[in-house]
Amino acid sequence: MSKLPFRIGHGYDLHRLAKDRKLILGGVEIPHDHGLIGHSDADCLTHALADAIFGALGLPDIGHYFPDDAPENKGMDSMLILQKALDECSSLGFSVGNADLTIVAQSPKMSPYVDAIKDSLARTLKILPDEIGLKATTNEKMGPVGREEAIACFAVCLLVKEGEE
Ligand code: MG
Repeated sequence: MSKLPFRIGHGYDLHRLAKDRKLILGGVEIPHDHGLIGHSDADCLTHALADAIFGALGLPDIGHYFPDDAPENKGMDSMLILQKALDECSSLGFSVGNADLTIVAQSPKMSPYVDAIKDSLARTLKILPDEIGLKATTNEKMGPVGREEAIACFAVCLLVKEGEE
């Protein structure tokens, strides 16, 4: 690993929406008439964040660690994926400094759930809720996200070398 005391990572994920699926973002179940489809619980916010951490460490993406054709990953709680990224992070001597996240969803309105999502992710990341930025935007009714066919998420995460905080 480089001598830099900081590492920055970026993650992106998108999942399709369908009826009869739960909508889970950042480990929080959000009441909605559609949910995200995926091999795991399809929590694309947590996937984007985990990929930001793996990326900051120069490691492969979550598909490498949790293949979407492996039966043991079916229906998996994505917080376990995030925990794996954190385990890699601490084994390489880094901890999470802060994260900044964006949810792009035409519906539902995310503002009632922002605090719960920040609390959920902060608990897993072992940082304070105010060390997580979480924004939500629509896609102005354009494209698959705007037509409510999918939800996309972006994440940026800063890792700090332990002993440098
Ligand atoms: Mg995903």
